Amino acid sequence: MTAMPADEPAPRWLGIDIGGTTTEVVAIAPDGAVLASEQVLTRPGTGLVPGTLEAIAALDVELGGVTGVGIGIPGQVDPRAGTVRLAVNLGLGAAPLPIRAAVEEVVGANVVLENDVRAAALGAHRMLAPDAEVLVFVGLGTGVAAGVVIDGRLHRGSHGLAGEIGHVVVDPDGEVCGCGARGCLETVISGSALRRRWAKDVTAAGQAVVTAAAAGDTRAQQLLDDVVRHLDRAVQWLAHAYGADVIVLGGGLGRLGDPLLTPLRDRLRERADRSDVAARLMGPERLWCAPAEIPLGAVGAAAVADAPIRPLEEGGAATRLARQPEDRDGLPASIRT
Ligand SMILES: [Zn+2]
Repeated sequence: MTAMPADEPAPRWLGIDIGGTTTEVVAIAPDGAVLASEQVLTRPGTGLVPGTLEAIAALDVELGGVTGVGIGIPGQVDPRAGTVRLAVNLGLGAAPLPIRAAVEEVVGANVVLENDVRAAALGAHRMLAPDAEVLVFVGLGTGVAAGVVIDGRLHRGSHGLAGEIGHVVVDPDGEVCGCGARGCLETVISGSALRRRWAKDVTAAGQAVVTAAAAGDTRAQQLLDDVVRHLDRAVQWLAHAYGADVIVLGGGLGRLGDPLLTPLRDRLRERADRSDVAARLMGPERLWCAPAEIPLGAVGAAAVADAPIRPLEEGGAATRLARQPEDRDGLPASIRT
């Protein structure tokens, strides 16, 4: 949470990231700076719209100058109708929820909706690597999906589902997925999969498994190895298919940082040492974890509403990456490991 000093300009954009647990809101200044941010608990089902309006109120900023609001939300988003449905974790079923109209009425500005992972991908591009031609963001939350930014714009694909990698079958003999298929990627590497497989009553399953693995629990180590093995493959497919400059891991598991990033980079490094093609397409320095303290989803949602977001570091980490691939000192401290 940040307070807004009296001499700060009034915000021009709002960005809202509605997650299964928390809703994050940011206010963006005319020059793209983040003026204020706030986080409230998400109220699912019929509480979703009033909860979102409460989150905006909690920002405690002057809304008169706001011209655009972006909302990132899981589920099936219909940007034209301004509705969302089929978001299990938000208590939304088949009936479309007209969230755009409700927020437009209160804020008095244009509201745009976008899938939450894609909004976070745009946030990662604008804040972490604005010079990247191709950035892929992998959201490792309750589910698994990728958002792709090409030439500064979100790539949605012809059906609006580009990057939906969570339901690629990786283990035909694996567990039955919520989508009906067996052995989807998200039955192995999502936060909910880890919680189910770890079979202990914990809220942050990823952190619990990492802690247990570090303490020598072989079952936890095996689960973590499974995640790394499958995520490594997903990263390779994404890197090779999209020609990514940078792949950013985000969501609850992406924020684990080193316990996930180090073994993944080791695998990338081993291949890069053996293969020039692998080194060129996906060297270890091109895989990052999203900094935990930055609300990429909310900032990205504001960017979907055309807010010009200021990069974390002027000059852009990706530019220096491209010039000096071996020089990791050029990266922001929050990314460098
Ligand atoms: Zn599935």
